[in-house]
Amino acid sequence: MFFWFIGTAVATIWFVFHDKKFGYRHVVAGALVPDVIEVFLGHAGPLHSVVTMVAIMAAVMLITYGRKKSRSNMLAVVIGMFLHLVFDGAFANTKMFWWPISGLKFGDSALPVFDRGFLNIPLEIIGVLLLLWTRNQVKDNS
Ligand SMILES: [Zn+2]
Repeated sequence: MFFWFIGTAVATIWFVFHDKKFGYRHVVAGALVPDVIEVFLGHAGPLHSVVTMVAIMAAVMLITYGRKKSRSNMLAVVIGMFLHLVFDGAFANTKMFWWPISGLKFGDSALPVFDRGFLNIPLEIIGVLLLLWTRNQVKDNS
């Protein structure tokens, strides 16, 4: 619910880009945002929909046109949000994942993190291990 998203996001970015200068803090912020905001909704909402993510991505591209630095920072946040959907298993809930294409109503699906219950404990441990693994990878590459 915390380290799971941080660890998977950071490890994925490192695995894909091997770039120490990537905006990891922005990725981490993005990976935590959907649950931090929607925990207050009391159910899964638009931030667990891939359609919303694509819309946010398009908005970022428009808003940051010609501003390279803010574009890369904001894209890192959006990438973090995408990775949240992946590692949250958001695609398992078709109605939530494809909102609003699947219909405007959310129903009252709980946030996936609450559906997982005690499974969150091993996932948190895996998240911490991924962070440690990534830190060692970065060290070995410097
Ligand atoms: Zn979530």
